[in-house]
Amino acid sequence: MVSTHNLGFPRIGAKRELKFALESYWKGQSTRDTLKALGKDLRQRHWSLQSALDLSPVGDFSFYDQVLDMSFTLGHLPERVIGFHGDQLDNYFRVARGRSAQSDDDHAQCCGGVAAGEMTKWFDTNYHYIVPEFTATTTFKLNATNLLEQLAEAQALNVKAKPVIIGPVTYLAIGKAKDNSDRLALLPQLVQVYVELLEALAAQGVEWVQIDEPILVTELDADWQHAFNLAYHQLKSSRVKLLLATYFGQLADNQYLAANLPVAGLHVDAINARHEILPLIGMLPSHKVLSIGVVNGRNIWKTDLTATLDWLEPLAQRLGERLWIAPSCSLLHVPVDLDSEHQLDAEIQSWLAFAKQKLEELHILSVALNHGREAVKERLATNHAALEARRHSQRVHNPAVREALGKLTPQLGQRQNVYAQRASKQAALLNLPKYPTTTIGSFPQTAEIRLARSQFKSSELDYADYQLAMKAEIERSVREQEALGLDVLVHGEAERNDMVEYFGEQLSGYAFSQFGWVQSYGSRCVKPPILFGDISRPQAMTVGWIKYAQSLTSKPMKGMLTGPVTILNWSFVRDDQPRAVSCYQLALAIREEVLDLEQAGINVIQIDEAALREGLPLRKSQWKEYLNWAVESFRITANGVQDETQIHTHMCYSEFNDIIAAIADMDADVITIETSRSDMELLDAFDNFNYPNEIGPGVYDIHSPNIPTQEQIVQLMKKAAERVPAERLWVNPDCGLKTRQWSEVLPALANMVAAAKTLRAMV
Ligand code: GLN
Ligand code: ZN
Repeated sequence: MVSTHNLGFPRIGAKRELKFALESYWKGQSTRDTLKALGKDLRQRHWSLQSALDLSPVGDFSFYDQVLDMSFTLGHLPERVIGFHGDQLDNYFRVARGRSAQSDDDHAQCCGGVAAGEMTKWFDTNYHYIVPEFTATTTFKLNATNLLEQLAEAQALNVKAKPVIIGPVTYLAIGKAKDNSDRLALLPQLVQVYVELLEALAAQGVEWVQIDEPILVTELDADWQHAFNLAYHQLKSSRVKLLLATYFGQLADNQYLAANLPVAGLHVDAINARHEILPLIGMLPSHKVLSIGVVNGRNIWKTDLTATLDWLEPLAQRLGERLWIAPSCSLLHVPVDLDSEHQLDAEIQSWLAFAKQKLEELHILSVALNHGREAVKERLATNHAALEARRHSQRVHNPAVREALGKLTPQLGQRQNVYAQRASKQAALLNLPKYPTTTIGSFPQTAEIRLARSQFKSSELDYADYQLAMKAEIERSVREQEALGLDVLVHGEAERNDMVEYFGEQLSGYAFSQFGWVQSYGSRCVKPPILFGDISRPQAMTVGWIKYAQSLTSKPMKGMLTGPVTILNWSFVRDDQPRAVSCYQLALAIREEVLDLEQAGINVIQIDEAALREGLPLRKSQWKEYLNWAVESFRITANGVQDETQIHTHMCYSEFNDIIAAIADMDADVITIETSRSDMELLDAFDNFNYPNEIGPGVYDIHSPNIPTQEQIVQLMKKAAERVPAERLWVNPDCGLKTRQWSEVLPALANMVAAAKTLRAMV
């Protein structure tokens, strides 16, 4: 018999119950007991949704972050919070949140880094974990209370419990050595705590423990590979059976290592590495369980059950009892329940599966494998019909888009002339001073703006009135910018709730869920739009607003767009064509918008690519391919304009060393980046590369309510000028200002403009 299990369930709740409970507790509006009771209730609900499985995950629930939970279990807290005597849960939140979170959901993806513990992305997902901090003197001490309590709770409910923990090598690998010491030196004593942990679980009657080692899908050097052998030989004597789980990618050269570690079972991701399964079966010692991840834990599409069975049945024959099936990874990365959706187009809805539905699929697969397809004939037929309908739907396939895509040529992404020639024409047209000042696009999203938008969405406000309200906001932004003396103005993005959703809503080929929320970090969630079909632009998306804004001023008004790579990376994308194809389609649609803006007399156009870096594949060997199509997509979007039109791009992060060549290849006339917190050091990457075009290094940390002084900004820009010639420098904030208050923005920008004037006087 083939067994089924799950690697993790989303904990936020089908209606984001956990989010609201956390936020109310943090605001002091509810008690700790209420919060804990809700946690218990959610766990119980989620286990009951998983009751058909042979093994359900325990310990996947977290009040904030599963990596932080692991740090607590290992008694490994940042030094600055040790010695806190209050309640454990409050201490936990202190580590998690340190600085209060202030950005809102739709900004969390790019600008959410607001915790005491540093946050970073969990592999190539949009989930952010709290980075474990190590030093040479780090010690560990088991504190398994939390996990053991959840286990007892599960056992009391007769859940077939499989505790889930992060493995020791991945735990070290995803952490940071604060003193640059060798993290691997900590391995022996860390593993000792794992030995105790496994013993505690065994003592509580556990048979299987899932130990996650996703670091095995990345490139590991000999020391890290060796660490796996060291660690798992020490854990071998444990009384529990270990299921070593890998996911998100291919094992590649770690395959032999993964197959031969002394554990009882191995889970692998057959969505991302199907071709590795057969060789792996050949390599796997014959006593080991092989768990195959056959349902995609990262997207929202129905699984093709028939095709999966065609592939799995021979494997089941071969492996018998040793075969387990599961989602490819934890379902943390998908929304909870498609049945909550009541406004989705019925046809599109019939193509989708969220976490609950994915587990149903797994169940159907297992019944078919164990009792023959006949036993689930109807369900297989329904699934097949839905997939066939999607395959042939005219909503998905647009011949005109296909045709345009077939005609892509490198010329399309080519500016008419090189930067130097364009720059002089742009200078003549725009007539900007040295150290020109600008902002990144958004101005504060005030309560009034949000109210107007929600009233418009609920039809309390008609379009004409909504438009008036937005125009008033645009006018306010323009007037403020003129009063401040900024050089290149923006319209302020009042009409946009989110930089991706705004465009998705207007492009054909996109659908929107009501409750398709996915945890980004802590209580923050994102609701990625669903890219289901060929992308086209029925009509202009921004031109009206930008033209209006330009009509209010004689200063240049910057058109503001989100780039194709960012739209792609922050969406649920199609699984029936390569990401690159979807990206090119987006590129062609946004290119039309760029050309329309130019036609409407807009001379400066910014195309944000905030998420370009986060699309990088897990393995460096695959970067080149991604960067090729990502950069080409941007070029197609941006580069059809005349020499005189100045193209800006914006990226809000601060690591460019390894992608600088690709950034240069995009050939934007101006790039604005996040730099204020890194003291301009990241400009070294641009300097060393001899980056040829203009750069606006951010001088104002928009994540913080602090107002930078004129002097600080001057100092930062002087440092910038040591690395980039002053003629090619712009002065601007790190990112958009939507999460700030006007009362913070105005003095900060006034100081910024004053600083630019000081700098001009010095050259
Ligand atoms: N133009 C967007 C804004 O200003 C950019 C946001 C971002 O880079 N995340 O809000
Ligand atoms: Zn940004």
